[in-house]
Amino acid sequence: MKTSIAIIGSGFSSLSAACYLAQQNFDVSIFEKNSTTGGRARQLIKDGFTFDIGPSWYWMPDIFDKFFNDFGKSVSDYYVLDKLKPAYKIFFHDEIITIGDCMDSICEEFERIEPGSSKPLRAFISKAQDNYNIAINKIVLRPGLSPLELVTPETITRVDQFFKTISSEVRKNFKNPKLISTLEFPVLFLGAKPSNTPSFYSFMNFADFGLGTWHPRGGMYEIIKAMTSLAAELGVTINTNSNVEKIDVENKKAKSITVNGESLNFDVVLSGADYHHSETLLDLEYRQYSEAYWQRKIFAPSSLLFYVGFDKKLQNIEHHNLFFDTDFEQHAEEIYDNPKWPENPLFYANFPSVTDASMAPENCETGFFLIPIAPDLKDNETLRQQYFDIIINRFEKLTAQKVRKNIIFKESFCVNDFIDQYNSYKGNAYGMANTLLQTAFLRPKLKSKKVSNLFFTGQLTVPGPGVPPSLISGKLVSELISKQFKLN
Ligand SMILES: Cc1cc2nc3c(=O)[nH]c(=O)nc-3n(C[C@H](O)[C@H](O)[C@H](O)COP(=O)(O)OP(=O)(O)OC[C@H]3O[C@@H](n4cnc5c(N)ncnc54)[C@H](O)[C@@H]3O)c2cc1C
Repeated sequence: MKTSIAIIGSGFSSLSAACYLAQQNFDVSIFEKNSTTGGRARQLIKDGFTFDIGPSWYWMPDIFDKFFNDFGKSVSDYYVLDKLKPAYKIFFHDEIITIGDCMDSICEEFERIEPGSSKPLRAFISKAQDNYNIAINKIVLRPGLSPLELVTPETITRVDQFFKTISSEVRKNFKNPKLISTLEFPVLFLGAKPSNTPSFYSFMNFADFGLGTWHPRGGMYEIIKAMTSLAAELGVTINTNSNVEKIDVENKKAKSITVNGESLNFDVVLSGADYHHSETLLDLEYRQYSEAYWQRKIFAPSSLLFYVGFDKKLQNIEHHNLFFDTDFEQHAEEIYDNPKWPENPLFYANFPSVTDASMAPENCETGFFLIPIAPDLKDNETLRQQYFDIIINRFEKLTAQKVRKNIIFKESFCVNDFIDQYNSYKGNAYGMANTLLQTAFLRPKLKSKKVSNLFFTGQLTVPGPGVPPSLISGKLVSELISKQFKLN
């Protein structure tokens, strides 16, 4: 008989693990509390408008290619990928910087802002490319079991880059504050302040400028659809509306899970739900990390999000737009050092219908606005509306147009929804930040130290936050499970 595996959750990490484990001939069942698969990457369709609820930046296309190739498939078997040109636009209070789709055009833009800056930019990106090759092809493919995993001939010669920050590295090479913000932006995906992120993580800059920004036609949810269909093809049973209430342990072995009040036996349990929540499904004695442990950790931000339908095409925008017209440092402080609702938040606006007509009705625009905020903030309708007014006013001014009267509908999503819909710790959006002390073997472990057949995956464990790392996390945990259970 096949070894049976229950997977809690159906986010990118769970779907990835499910595919790899089914390929290894395990009998895999997914249990997802929500009505559709995808976790933080679900989709909202309303009145002909299509919104990705969570991720919208498709970076590191090589990792998606590798995932599908591992199953004898390719990305193009499932969705059409377009490279965005330009990649994105950044609005500052008195200037707009446009990031093109290749180094030559990006260098031109840098020269326009800071003459002479294209030379250090090329050198910076070349170093970032080396780091990308080391990080993506070696380090992130290791399961975070031991510090020795970080020791390779390549990392030994770069050890200084683990102790310097991306912020200092960027400032060493560039003087213009707008270029500094532009180069610090990619590491925000890792969930920490650039001044608290090792400069080795400049590989995110290579992902940005070197590999480019892509869009799956139909939206990011196409990837979830692809993975869900691949999982089903490989024989995975997918149960939605299936809330896992308990992981039942006997003699340090997970025996069963309780789903919607019913106890179901499995040989192995893997949770892709938020790590903190997953541990609360266990009796206290089987939890590895105390509440104090989680309290001490630096969490990635939460977000206030708005999904907005406009009844006209908007002007002066691109598919991805960053609004950096306020103080980056102050907003970062209000997220990490002195958590509170930000005075003058930076925000991000995504209009996928600018490049993909399928995302909105004709002559309409699909708009997704995101304000990063500290996790665990008080969240209510009044605050949400107050911030919507702030950003729409700024949006109108910076893009030189009136849009307020063209809003047909808007929905919001914030801390309370992250907790309610995903059991997210403190309502975090992107898991646990990748700082030096929360990297690799210093992150929560893929395998339980207390329950022999219990495993974890997802953005709170290795390698960290983001869609590509979640795909890798699923692969890493599947390898650990296969190693332990393949011969049974
Ligand atoms: C607003 C936002 C924007 C983002 N933007 C980007 C981006 O542009 N690019 C990028 O690469 N990344 C981005 N990310 C990060 C990326 O979306 C995440 O890192 C990734 O989706 C996390 O996947 P996961 O599998 O770890 O977790 P999740 O997607 O959270 O999956 C966990 C699943 O477990 C389920 N679950 C929880 N508790 C239970 C239970 N008791 N029983 C059953 N099921 C349960 C949840 O419902 C959920 O489906 C963004 C995230 C957010 C929120």
